[in-house]
Amino acid sequence: MGNTLSEWTTFGIGGAAKRIELASSREQLIDCAGCGVVLGRGSNILASDSGYDGTVVINRYEQTVRKGTSVYAGSGTRLSRLCGFAAENGLSGLEWAVGIPGTVGGAVRMNAGAFLGAVSDVLDYAEVLRGGRLVTLDKSELCFGYRSCGLHDDDVVIGAAFELTEGDPTVIRKRGESYNVLRKNSQPSGKSAGSVFKNPPHASVGKILDEAGLKGLRRGGAVISHEHANIIVNTGGATAKDVCALIRIMRGVLIAEGVQAKEEIIYLGEF
Ligand SMILES: Cc1cc2nc3c(=O)[nH]c(=O)nc-3n(C[C@H](O)[C@H](O)[C@H](O)COP(=O)(O)OP(=O)(O)OC[C@H]3O[C@@H](n4cnc5c(N)ncnc54)[C@H](O)[C@@H]3O)c2cc1C
Repeated sequence: MGNTLSEWTTFGIGGAAKRIELASSREQLIDCAGCGVVLGRGSNILASDSGYDGTVVINRYEQTVRKGTSVYAGSGTRLSRLCGFAAENGLSGLEWAVGIPGTVGGAVRMNAGAFLGAVSDVLDYAEVLRGGRLVTLDKSELCFGYRSCGLHDDDVVIGAAFELTEGDPTVIRKRGESYNVLRKNSQPSGKSAGSVFKNPPHASVGKILDEAGLKGLRRGGAVISHEHANIIVNTGGATAKDVCALIRIMRGVLIAEGVQAKEEIIYLGEF
């Protein structure tokens, strides 16, 4: 794989980064965390067509360890692997995360969640590299909010521990699978970065945009999903410029509806 950010993001969009560092172990991640922006699977990222004039660290530090009812995971561990490990070990609490294509580090940063579950419900503590020092922050210190947490911009999550409850492995696996079926029935399978905008309290951005007739709207290779109006899909050859053109239209509709339009996706590079 090369330096092009389209190769490191699920949107498949973005020009070249000045430098890519691949961190495959805890030591490598700690060594290079301070040298640039850390990405997991790039599943919440819209990277600029002109790329990123700096270093991007791709986190592949994967590890899962059980201690009683707690599971510690390296921050580059894919959520699918973490969920599988928890289910195999008869530990429940992460089933909502089955099918979210990110890593543990990205999930902590975003307070990822679905089906009324979220990282903040099950996180015990996160190990964070802050100002060159490794610190352990417990849940209350992370000040979680809806798709946000109180980490500083340059904090890097190295690992996280999740406090789970004991259950039957078969039941846990089935619950995770049924959430994943719901997900597959309501979301597109193409290249995307998940939801574009955060939902405001007690409202659904997807429903508002659907009612405004935005599903299927296209700019270049980017289209507002027919399955979910808050998701933009790269149908092939989409640029960040195409995606931004759709985002501007979506924002206009939300503002006209009196909804505070705050992006969930993270921009990387110059826009
Ligand atoms: C098809 C699809 C479905 C999705 N469904 C959901 C869903 O149901 N719920 C949901 O919440 N999200 C969903 N997402 C969005 C995304 O998967 C989550 O936000 C995920 O947690 C991002 O993880 P990541 O590792 O890919 O992070 P990235 O996209 O790589 O990064 C996201 C942000 O986290 C930061 N970051 C990444 N790793 C670290 C680290 N180790 N330390 C500090 N900061 C870090 C990055 O710098 C960036 O700011 C979906 C995305 C897709 C494509």
